[in-house]
Amino acid sequence: ALNIRNLTMAYGELDVLKGIDLDIAPGSVTCIIGPSGSGKSTLLRCLNRLVEPKGGDILLDGDSILAMKPERLRRRVGMVFQHFNLFPDHTAFENVMLSLTKVKKMPRREAQRIAEARLAEVGLAARRDHRPAGLSGGQQQRVAIARALAMDPEIILFDEVTSALDPELVKGVLDLMAALGRQGMTMAVVTHEMGFARRVADQVVFMDEGRIVEAGCPEQIFDNPRSERLQRFLAEVL
Ligand code: ATP
Ligand code: MG
Repeated sequence: ALNIRNLTMAYGELDVLKGIDLDIAPGSVTCIIGPSGSGKSTLLRCLNRLVEPKGGDILLDGDSILAMKPERLRRRVGMVFQHFNLFPDHTAFENVMLSLTKVKKMPRREAQRIAEARLAEVGLAARRDHRPAGLSGGQQQRVAIARALAMDPEIILFDEVTSALDPELVKGVLDLMAALGRQGMTMAVVTHEMGFARRVADQVVFMDEGRIVEAGCPEQIFDNPRSERLQRFLAEVL
C-alpha cells in the first residue's frame, strides 16, 4: 500500500501541496482529477521524488520513500509521462532493456527475455527494432509503459499519458492501462479522461489549489459530488 500523510510541497514561496492525505490500496487504480495548476503533477512527482516535499511522509508498504535510496525507489515506483521520455537513439527493445541492465543491474540475457515479453504484452513485438522517431505517439507511449512494467514496480504513476496523443491513438493506450488495472497493477493516474476514471478507477481524487477536496468511488465523485467546487469542475469538463 501507499500511504501519504500530511504531504506539503512548495516551489519557493508558492505552496503547491497543502497537506495531502491519501491511501492507495495494493491492486487498486486511483485516478487524480482537478483543474490545471491544482498540484496533480507535483503530487506524482513527490511520490517518486522528482521533487522533494517540504513536509509530511510517504510510506510504501511501511517504508518511508523520503528515506529510501534513489536506486531503490526507481525500482519500486514506476512512472510514465505525457512526453514519453524515451531515449531517441535507442530502439524500442533497447529502451525497455536499458533500465533493466542499468538500474536493476540485470544480466543481459534475462533483461532481453523480460523486454521481449513486456513489448509483446503492450502489442509491440513486431516493432521492437524501431527507434522512437519511427513509432507513432501511441506506440511510443506503449514502449514507455512496457519500460515501466519491466521494472516490476509496486506502483506505476501515470501523468496525463494520453494528452499529447492524436485522438485516434488515445483509446488504445487507455485500453492498455485498463487491462493493467484489471490484472491487479497498482496505479495512480492523473488524467483528464473522465470516462476512463469512471470506468476504471477504484478511487477518484479531486484536487484543487493543493488540497484534496473530495475522494471516493467513481459513482460518488461523478454522480453525487458533494462540494460546490467539484460540481463546478464537472460542469466544465463533462
Ligand atoms: P496541469 O493540469 O496543468 O498539468 P497540475 O495540477 O499538474 O496542472 P502542477 O504542475 O502540479 O499542476 O502545478 C501546481 C502549481 O505549481 C502551479 O501553480 C504551477 O504553476 C506551479 N509549478 C509547477 N511546476 C513548477 C516549477 N518547476 N517551478 C515553479 N512553480 C511550478
Ligand atoms: Mg500536470
